[in-house]
Amino acid sequence: MLMKLRWFSRAEDRLDAWITRQHQEHVLDGRTAPVGPCPGEAFLEGVARQSKQIALSDPRVDHAANCPDCMRMLLELRSQHLSRRRRLVFTAAVGCCLLIVAAFAMVSWRGSNTPHPADNMAAIPETIDLSNAGTLRGLPSNSAEPSPLQSVSLPAALVRVKIILPRFSRPGQYAVAVTRDQTVNDPLAHGNAAANGGGDQEEVFVDLDLRQSRPGAYFLSTTHEQDQASYYYPLQIK
Ligand SMILES: [Zn+2]
Repeated sequence: MLMKLRWFSRAEDRLDAWITRQHQEHVLDGRTAPVGPCPGEAFLEGVARQSKQIALSDPRVDHAANCPDCMRMLLELRSQHLSRRRRLVFTAAVGCCLLIVAAFAMVSWRGSNTPHPADNMAAIPETIDLSNAGTLRGLPSNSAEPSPLQSVSLPAALVRVKIILPRFSRPGQYAVAVTRDQTVNDPLAHGNAAANGGGDQEEVFVDLDLRQSRPGAYFLSTTHEQDQASYYYPLQIK
C-alpha cells in the first residue's frame, strides 16, 4: 500500500514536472500573451525565492508566468537561488560535522584527562631511604627491633613515596603498607609496586593515601612477593 502510494506520488510529481515543462516551453516560445508590464527583477527575485510577501494572486505573478522575458529571468534567478541554498546547506552541514567532531574531541580529551580519585590532589613526593637497614635483612621482622636510624616520617597526606630498599634487596614485586602495629592486618594505607633499579640498590615507588591518618607512631612494612616475612620500620605520621 505504502509502495503504491509512493509510486503514485512519484508519478504525480513526474506529471507536474512535465506540465510545468510544457508550460515553460510554451511561454518561452512566445506562444502566450502576458497581461500588464514586466514587474522588474526585484519582484522576480522574490518569486524565485518563494518569498511569503508575494501572493500568488498578485497579477504580476500571472504576468511572469506568461511572459517569455520574465520567465527566462525567473528561471535564471531560480537556479541561482537554488545553488546558493545548496551551498548554504552544504556549508551548514560541514559546520555541523565540524561541531560534532569538535564536541567528540572535547569529550574524549576531557575523558582522558578525568582525574582518578587519587589524582585529585597532587601526591606529595617523599623519599624513604632504607638502604642502611640491611642489618634487618634475613631476620624475621617481629624478632628484631629496628634501629632508630631507620625511623622515617611522612605527612598525613597523599604521598608518592620512593622507597630505597635495604641493600641487597631482591628485585620483584613488593607490597608496601602503613600499619598500626607489626602485623599487616588492617593497614592505614597500602600499595604494590615493582622494585627497579638493578645493581645492589632497589627502589619502589608507591602511592600511599594518608589523608585520613592521625599524626602518631606507625610502622611502614615491606613484603616481597616471594617472602613470607614482612619488614617493619618505625614511621612517624606528622
Ligand atoms: Zn514580462
